[in-house]
Parts: sequence; C-alpha cells; structure tokens
Amino acid sequence: MRNQDTLNILEVASTIQGEGKYNTYPVILVRFAGCNLRCSWCDTKYSWSFNGTASLPAKHLTAEELVANVVSAGYDSEYNIVLITGGEPMLWQYNRVFFEALNLLKDYGYLIHVETNGTIKAFKEMDELVNFYAVSPKQTEYKNSYKKEVLDSYRGVEHIWKFVVGGKEDAYNVVEFVKKFGLEYDDIYLMPEGVTVESLERSRSFITSEEGKEILKSLNYRMSERLQIEVGII
Ligand code: SF4
Repeated sequence: MRNQDTLNILEVASTIQGEGKYNTYPVILVRFAGCNLRCSWCDTKYSWSFNGTASLPAKHLTAEELVANVVSAGYDSEYNIVLITGGEPMLWQYNRVFFEALNLLKDYGYLIHVETNGTIKAFKEMDELVNFYAVSPKQTEYKNSYKKEVLDSYRGVEHIWKFVVGGKEDAYNVVEFVKKFGLEYDDIYLMPEGVTVESLERSRSFITSEEGKEILKSLNYRMSERLQIEVGII
C-alpha cells in the first residue's frame, strides 16, 4: 500500500556499489519497495511488493525520516553517494514526498545515483536532482515494453545502460535493442545473469566465449561485476 505522505522503504544501509560504472564506490543504499516488472532471474524478489515481506516489511517514512536514516547510516566524505534502488524506485516519482526527500538529500550535499529498469519516463525535474542513472532495460521477457521517449528521458544526466546477459538469446536481444533505440554512443555495461556464484560464472563464460564475443562485437561494452552476489554485500 502507498500513500502520498510517506515512502515505502525496505533498507537503508552503508555498503559498496557492486555493479556498473561506480563499482566498489562506498554508497548509502536506499531500497524502495515495489516493482512494476517480475523478472524471472530477479535477485531482489523481496522488493516486488509495496508492503515488503513478512521478514522484511516496508517502513513508511516521511522525507525527513528517510533523510535522518541516511545520515545515521553514513555522513562524511567517504559516504557521499546515495544509491536509490528497488524494486523500481521511479514508481515513487508520483509521490510529492519523493521529491522532498531528494531535495533534502541534495541540501545535505549527497550525490544521488538512481538504478531503474527504464520502463517509466523520468520527470524533467529529476534532471536537477539526480547525478547519475544506471538504466537496466530487461531483455527477453520485457524487451517489447520499451519506448524511445521513455529511454531518452534518462539521457539528461550522466547515465549508463546496463544489460543482463545469460546466453545467446539475451546477447542477440541486447544488440538489437541498442541499435533500435540508438544507444550505441552511450556507456554500455553487460552483467552476467545469475543469483549464485556458479550461475554468474556460467553466464560470464558465455559472454567471454568466442560465440558470445562474435554476437556482441558491435557493442562498445564493458563487463560489469555483481559484487552483491559474489561477495555477499547487499
Ligand atoms: S526490474 Fe529489477 S527489481 Fe524489478 S523484477 Fe526486474 S530485476 Fe527485479
């Protein structure tokens, strides 16, 4: 359940970024509850419901309460990035309190990084508040859910496109997707699919195999780690 005065938050914790361009940077992670997709390989299924789960129920926080939680999790030059993630945090744009919270975080001097699946158009006001987007369009199951105008709404600030690849079908889909939406000249990261060290290794082996490299060769991509799975951070 959502209401306009509070945000449904599952976790606020200091950790390190485990993926993409800012991999290994210290961050304060804020995990919003609720997602509009249901990816079969999702490694945070507990974040799908707006209510959280029985073992991790969502807390209903005002903007001030959320910022107080962030500050107590870490407030110094080392932890100056707040990583807004989910679930799908962009669903919360429709609550005015989301903007209040981001404005307060900016006033404290935090940099704001947002992880999104890229299916929801970013409001123009977000460009003033967000320093970095990691946009992760989902392939195979949801590849036909994307629109150019929605993807383009993330290009107003520094951003990367982060794709999960588990095998041949994903690889072909990513190449087609990048071409279809004109993402060739942006930063592209490929992440191995998997929720265990073993399954990640299988996916990584495909991406780095001769077959994988041949399919993906038109992309100017970098490989992304998934340290949250590999070393067990959140
Ligand atoms: S979009 Fe992200 S959080 Fe939502 S189901 Fe897919 S992987 Fe999980």
